[in-house]
Amino acid sequence: VYDLAHIQSLVRAIPDFPHKGIVFQDIFPIFQDPVAIESLTLHLLTRIKETLGEETNKVDVVVGLDARGFLFGPALAIHLGAAFVPVRKQGKLPGACTTASYSKEYGTDVLEVQEGAIRPGQRVIIIDDLIATGGTAAAAGELVRKSKGTIAMYLFVIELLFLKGRDKLEGGSVESLLHYE
Ligand code: IMP
Repeated sequence: VYDLAHIQSLVRAIPDFPHKGIVFQDIFPIFQDPVAIESLTLHLLTRIKETLGEETNKVDVVVGLDARGFLFGPALAIHLGAAFVPVRKQGKLPGACTTASYSKEYGTDVLEVQEGAIRPGQRVIIIDDLIATGGTAAAAGELVRKSKGTIAMYLFVIELLFLKGRDKLEGGSVESLLHYE
């Protein structure tokens, strides 16, 4: 199992993507190495267990955020014996959906979850590859609350600390493995 420092060394910083002035942290090099994928999954699971303790086995749903949250959510769900539920940008999920909007640098975006995918009273972990401003995860949290679920925790591989995105998140603890100042 690789330690977190080694996993962080695999993350690639790409300047000026998707816009000039933005440094994009790219996690895909981690996926070049199956040992790195497995190690990262185990580190995420360890953090869940450290944070939730005995409540870990009461997690009902792992919610993954479009699109790189989908890389981690199902693996965690298998280990936790939980369901996996995707949250996607508007118009991508079939059937009736619950929606939440959030403001971005340019205009607003809408996220959706399928109706009935999260049932009242279920305990939820929200996972994504990275938290920047926190708008995406905050909207996902709103979807969980609108579905009458309970947020056990928000979990990220990477947190951009200088953007203070965690201050937007309500209802559960906020955890991340790798940090950038
Ligand atoms: P936020 O809503 O500003 O917190 O942005 C987080 C969302 O944008 C997540 O779904 C991330 O996958 C994506 N994102 C923003 N910046 C980066 C980055 O540097 N690397 C990878 N994903 C990013």
